[in-house]
Amino acid sequence: MSRFGELSTSSKGLRLARKAWQLLHQDSARSVALAREALEAARQGADIAGEAWAHLAIGWHLLYFGTPAEAAPELTTAQQQFESIHERAGYILAGTGLARCLWREGKFPASLDQVLPLREEGLQVLRHEQRGVMLNTIAGCYSAQGRSEQAFAYMYQALRDSGPTHGHGFDAVLYCNLAHELLQIGDYHEALRYLDQGITRCHHLNNPRLLSVLLINRVICLTELDRAQEAMLDVSRVRSLPIGSQGRGTLAMSYETMAIAALRAGERAIGRELVEQARAAPREDIPDEHVELAIAAALLAGQEGRWPDALRELDRALPLVGAGDTDAAEGLSLRVRCMYFLIRSEIHEQLRDTEPALAHMRIWQQLHVARAHMASRARYQAAALQTELIRLQHKLDEQSSQRRATERARAELETANAQLSRKIAEVQALQQALHEQAVRDALTGLFNRRYLNETLPTAFALAQREHQGLAVAIIDLDHFKAVNDRYGHGAGDTLLAAFGKLLLAHCRKSDVACRYGGEEFCLLMPRTDAAAAQRKVNALLVLWRQQRFDIEGDTLTGLSFSAGICDSQRAPLSPHMLLQAADQQLLVAKQHGRSRVLGPGLTESAS
Ligand code: GH3
Ligand code: MG
Ligand code: MG
Repeated sequence: MSRFGELSTSSKGLRLARKAWQLLHQDSARSVALAREALEAARQGADIAGEAWAHLAIGWHLLYFGTPAEAAPELTTAQQQFESIHERAGYILAGTGLARCLWREGKFPASLDQVLPLREEGLQVLRHEQRGVMLNTIAGCYSAQGRSEQAFAYMYQALRDSGPTHGHGFDAVLYCNLAHELLQIGDYHEALRYLDQGITRCHHLNNPRLLSVLLINRVICLTELDRAQEAMLDVSRVRSLPIGSQGRGTLAMSYETMAIAALRAGERAIGRELVEQARAAPREDIPDEHVELAIAAALLAGQEGRWPDALRELDRALPLVGAGDTDAAEGLSLRVRCMYFLIRSEIHEQLRDTEPALAHMRIWQQLHVARAHMASRARYQAAALQTELIRLQHKLDEQSSQRRATERARAELETANAQLSRKIAEVQALQQALHEQAVRDALTGLFNRRYLNETLPTAFALAQREHQGLAVAIIDLDHFKAVNDRYGHGAGDTLLAAFGKLLLAHCRKSDVACRYGGEEFCLLMPRTDAAAAQRKVNALLVLWRQQRFDIEGDTLTGLSFSAGICDSQRAPLSPHMLLQAADQQLLVAKQHGRSRVLGPGLTESAS
């Protein structure tokens, strides 16, 4: 493969991998397909950057659709490759992904320890949704530890940084997570608002996994709000989505959540089916899922009148839930704990065990109060953040309007500059033209006598120094007055212009052809001696004689001129004497009958 071939392959890999990363939330199936294609191209082109971005996109895809164990090796490779090419943004995103792996494994403090050190640099080098990905991961860690205030702070910041215009669909992820956090603190109406927004946004994305998570969160909200019947619409929507990497994934299928909704809605058959599916589903060690499954199983048993079984189902989850408000399993949400104790109290009531029913109601009450406190703190935080958000948005608007004004001013300046440059060019051209006019003769296009006077001394001095001949010829048109007299001044002018043209056409670039005055011309020929000059001017004479002019029905031809030649070797004393010597020769030529070219010591050659 050629060098260029290699180059184009490598840049192709990087291009595809970047595209894959961009499509991560927008179109998950296409994203992963592109990432695999990118990996192939990048490997062929030995393009580390392309490989790294491809591994990153695949790693994150697996975080959503696969297991942390599958995602981690991809992300580790990506991180190592990014480090080797000093690509910081990629490095931080891979590190964030690895933190997300720990989070998925329920190792929440370790996850936070992994991602927090990346934060400062991340805020500097990451933009828009990339920043959002990092901030959202931090938020997730805090959320899992029940630290809602911090979770909200990071989520709002993430939402601000990756709004719908930059988001590539990531904003829908954030709506989902914000809603999830809101429902943890019992703000179901506010959560529904974000979920509706996220679900609407999902219509423009091809991300069934994200859609299903949004729908499940709406199921939770509606169930908690005693609107389980409505939730059943979402349940059936979720159940109709395909399973697997092209659909809603293989893990965290939320059968237990849907089962609770179905049983609350009185749909016992569907509830039973979902409990069975939940029992059979492969799962990771997520406390909420275990406890929700126990609750669903208990609800089912209760609806079938098997109250002791219902209690036994709940007992299984007791080690996770703990007895009081402090000894629960790490990562178990307050919402699920509340639900657990409330249902447990109801079951005891059904079994007429008044004392335990009351005891569990008390625990529920304590948890509920804790949740209310948390909610009020979080709400305060949210309000403060909203204000901050609006303030920042104003600042941003102001800055962008300032930027637009500056851009406008710069554009105006550029126009003014362009106009100025054009003017300068015009003036320069004008100056050039004026100079030309000053040294050119308008009728013939030849230099004028003034120019000759300026040039001759320099040319003469140069010739002397270089011991070269500088020949000069003075040419006078013969019987020119007769043409004027016979045909008028205009005809004379035509002849003069034609003679100028003839000189220009047959002179060397280094020659200087001037109109000396009236019908006299002077030709300076550097590096030429008198003999060569005579040959040259004779040739001009031949050409001039051949020219024909049709004037007033007559044809003028056989016109002639006389010329005197001299060179600087024969007249070495001054330019003036050189001209004088040539002029002298011209006089002799006229005296000898015109139509000839004479020079001192040269054989006369008449034409
Ligand atoms: P000779 O062969 O002796 O040089 O004769 P001649 O007629 O060429 O010379 P003479 O000096 O008698 O006449 C030169 C004429 O050239 C006189 C003048 O009217 C004419 N002349 C000078 N400048 C111009 C010009 O710019 N246009 C025209 N049409 N004629 C000019
Ligand atoms: Mg004359
Ligand atoms: Mg003349």
